[in-house]
Amino acid sequence: MINANKKIQKLIKHKIVDIVHESATSISQETYLVGGAVRDHLIDRKRKNRDLDFVTLGCEIKLANEIRNKINKNLKISRFKNFGTAHINFNEINIEIVKARKESYHLSSRNPDVEPGTLLDDLKRRDFTINAIAVSLNNENFGELIDPLGGLNDLKNKIIITPRDPEITISDDPLRILRGVRFCAELNFEINNSLLNAMKKNCDRIKIISKERIVDEINKIIMTDKPSKGFKLLDKIGLIQILIPPLNKLKGIEEKEGITHKDNFYHTLQVVDNISQVTNKIWLRWSALLHDIGKPNSKRFDKKIGWTFHGHEYIGSKMIFEIFKKLKMPLNSSLKYVQKIVLLSSRPIILSNNIVTDSAVRRLIYDAGEEIEDLLMLCEADITTKNKKRRDKYLNNFKIVRQKIKMVEDRDEIRNFQPPISGKFIMSIFNLQPSKEVGILKEKIKDAILDGKIPNEYNSAFELLLKEGTKMGLKPKINEEKV
Ligand code: ATP
Ligand code: MG
Repeated sequence: MINANKKIQKLIKHKIVDIVHESATSISQETYLVGGAVRDHLIDRKRKNRDLDFVTLGCEIKLANEIRNKINKNLKISRFKNFGTAHINFNEINIEIVKARKESYHLSSRNPDVEPGTLLDDLKRRDFTINAIAVSLNNENFGELIDPLGGLNDLKNKIIITPRDPEITISDDPLRILRGVRFCAELNFEINNSLLNAMKKNCDRIKIISKERIVDEINKIIMTDKPSKGFKLLDKIGLIQILIPPLNKLKGIEEKEGITHKDNFYHTLQVVDNISQVTNKIWLRWSALLHDIGKPNSKRFDKKIGWTFHGHEYIGSKMIFEIFKKLKMPLNSSLKYVQKIVLLSSRPIILSNNIVTDSAVRRLIYDAGEEIEDLLMLCEADITTKNKKRRDKYLNNFKIVRQKIKMVEDRDEIRNFQPPISGKFIMSIFNLQPSKEVGILKEKIKDAILDGKIPNEYNSAFELLLKEGTKMGLKPKINEEKV
């Protein structure tokens, strides 16, 4: 890292670093910049609004007060007294100040007992050497890099390694397994072998980590440029089986009568990589990750046609709730979105393989609604064949589906389709309570519109309603006002 000092010069000119320097000087408290900001600057990794981590030899609150007063007296300081930490959030930048410390751990928790320590103690208690490089903010050696644990060299060699014994480091705080995998995936680094072994050995200890923290790291892995790298590592360590067991079941290839099916685990990871090239929507990436999880439970072998996975989208979409619940992920609109995308994930493929009728296209637009574009992106990402001819054929098929969708949409305005007759109206016309009949009649009107049998407007729908209601033995009240 020839230009290390030059690269750091840029960082120490940062407005907030300057303020921290001034503040530390005014209270004569030895202070250093550490962590991700130093690491990322050294490897030219650009990030917007990144957080800044400082370590100080003295009172973290005193320094935080000083900094706050220089930035804006009204800013809030959050304190975690037990860990000697103070946070200030300013303009979306997280400023974290920790008192230099030594740590000792108990088996049941990742929260250590802490006692004040030297700068070296503090660097040694950190997770990885690449995160344990300090930059002095003290007048006598301002801007100097302090790297007693060889972090610079590991950055150069793109290697993740712990300052202390990997076994102890990982067992003390198993969240470090996920952080290590995440840094590998984000930075395209490798994990040192003995660290990888320690991770494998301790993977069960992930249970002492809160689900929120785990999901936080999984989400960061899923948001990298090539998420397969992180997921393959998680798999190697044994964490896919523990955290998302249905994904683990996708692994493997079965053969019967000389016919094999693809390994759906590696296929899935390829799909996630593909979709990540075209979208940063986290829930679309999650949908790609889970789009095939129904396959193991729907797998059959048919002597004539080989392996089939009929209904895997439906089975898969039903499994997503449990996965989210187990990981304590939000059970809200994000869950619904992923369920919907997975449920519909084969529909455009069916369209692309058949002669496309307007009716089928209308139904897809109606069912997918606002998600139609995301769904098509997933389908295109789902093409993982290495055969170029076949790949081009599939892509071309989707091009045709897209054109057809556009044509039908422009003509019928179906995406935000609302049937022109409501359930309430049907009830009042036939003097019905909420019942099965109301649902059947509503469905018939919707189907007739989507199939193009009647136009999407009130008079035709009303006429059909009277006809179908009468067939069902219902008597309409006449002269009813439109509701
Ligand atoms: P990023 O900002 O990209 O997440 P970071 O390295 O800044 O990366 P933070 O979570 O902000 O990560 O932590 C700041 C620093 O604190 C780290 O660089 C590392 O030195 C130390 N650290 C954070 N979490 C741990 C942990 N679980 N065990 C040991 N050290 C940690
Ligand atoms: Mg940080």
